[in-house]
Amino acid sequence: MSDRRALTSKELDRFEYRMGLFKRRGLSSDEAETLADKLASRDIDCDDRRVCLECKHIQRDGKCFAAQQGRLHNAPTYYTPVRTMLQRCEGFAWQTPA
Ligand code: SF4
Repeated sequence: MSDRRALTSKELDRFEYRMGLFKRRGLSSDEAETLADKLASRDIDCDDRRVCLECKHIQRDGKCFAAQQGRLHNAPTYYTPVRTMLQRCEGFAWQTPA
């Protein structure tokens, strides 16, 4: 845990949602918590980068559905992005709660 300020209740809700999402998408509990913590710091820092595990286009097999549809420039249809790396992507779309 970093030495950033304490999370607000809304930020804690988002943290919990992300942990559940990341576990459903294949991360261990420890990995999900570490990534959710990193993203909480990202949000506080107003960093506009995202990770593929937050995106609605990431598939169970790790491939990107937007790339499969030819909607990402310079990406092959079989594109399998690093799912936990902060980046800016033209195809990003939030995975929202069901
Ligand atoms: S659209 Fe971009 S952010 Fe979303 S899964 Fe594909 S590569 Fe990742």
